[in-house]
Amino acid sequence: MEDRLRSIEDKAIKAVRQAKDQETLEEIKVRFLGRKGILTGILKGLGRLPRQERPKVGKLANEVKVRIERAVRQRLKALEKEAGPKVIKGFDPTLPGRTLPRGHLHPITTVLHKVCSIFERLGFSIAEGPEIELDFYNFEALNIPPDHPARDMQDTFYVDDKVLLRTHTSPIQVRTMEVMKPPIRIIAPGKVYRCDSDVTHTPMFHQVEGLMVDREVSFAHLKGILTHFAQEIFYRDTKVRFRPSFFPFTEPSAEIDIQCVMCRGGGCRVCSDTGWLEVLGAGLVHPQVLRNVGIDTERYSGFAFGLGIERIAMLKYGINDIRLFYDNDLRFLNQF
Ligand SMILES: [Zn+2]
Repeated sequence: MEDRLRSIEDKAIKAVRQAKDQETLEEIKVRFLGRKGILTGILKGLGRLPRQERPKVGKLANEVKVRIERAVRQRLKALEKEAGPKVIKGFDPTLPGRTLPRGHLHPITTVLHKVCSIFERLGFSIAEGPEIELDFYNFEALNIPPDHPARDMQDTFYVDDKVLLRTHTSPIQVRTMEVMKPPIRIIAPGKVYRCDSDVTHTPMFHQVEGLMVDREVSFAHLKGILTHFAQEIFYRDTKVRFRPSFFPFTEPSAEIDIQCVMCRGGGCRVCSDTGWLEVLGAGLVHPQVLRNVGIDTERYSGFAFGLGIERIAMLKYGINDIRLFYDNDLRFLNQF
C-alpha cells in the first residue's frame, strides 16, 4: 500500500510539473485530489485495511496529499508568472484608471456650517427635531391655535389633520424646552417645507432657529448677538436695523434688516433702492410659549430668532434665483 501511495505521488508531481497551462493543471488536480480522485479513493478505502495498518497508511496518504497540493500551487504560480497579466478581450487591467473629478460641499451646506459655527463660538449648542411634525409643536405650542389667522402666513403641507411637514424650525424650541431647563442656548438648523415655488421660494428650504432662555435675557442681548452674527457672516461693518413686526410666538417681535450687501446701502435693484435687506425674524419668547412648557415666566425670559439659509447664501454669493440651488446643474455648482 505504501509503495502504491509513493508511486501515485511520483506520477502526480511529475504530471503537475509538466502541465503546460492552467486547464491541464486543473485536470490533474481533479484526477488525483478531486472527490472521485485516485488519492481520495484510497483515503476512503482506509476502513477496509487491517486495523494495525490504518494509522500508518492514513498518515502517509495525508502527507502525499499535502505534497501534491503544494506542487499544484507552485506550478500554478509559475504558470501565472509566465502568462503575464491576464488580458480579457477589450479590457486591460494594467491601464491607469480614470481619475474622478473631486467634489466639494454644496453652497447651502457651506453656508449652513458657517452659520452654525458662528453661534457655536457664542456658546450655543445644536438641537434637532423631526421634519414630519405634529400640528401641536408646529403651531399650537407656539401660540398659534387652530383658527388663528397666523396659520395663513405659511402654506402648510399636511400629512393628515394632526401631522404635517414642519413649516419652520420653531417646533424645536418647544421640544428643547420640554426636556431642558434654563439656562438654554441652542440653535436648530434643518429643512422646512412650504407649498410655495418661485424665484425666491422653494417647497423645501433650510432654516436656523435660535433660542436663549435664562434669567434677565433682554432685547439688548438679542440685538447684540444678531448684530455680531450679521457682521461675521457678511462684512465687519455691516449695519443692522430692527423693525417692529409680529409673530405669534414672540412679544415684542422684530424683523431684522442688514445694510444691502450689494450696494452697501446706496440703493440698488437687489434692495429695491432701499439700501436694506430683510434677513431675520426674531423677538422675545412669548410668555405663553414658556408657560406651555412649564417655564416660570417670573424667573426666566428668553429670545428666539429664525433665518433662512438660502436667503443668506443668495446674498452672500449674489444669486438671484433660489431654484438654482436645487437644479443640480454642475455648471452652477462648480463655481463654489
Ligand atoms: Zn442694494
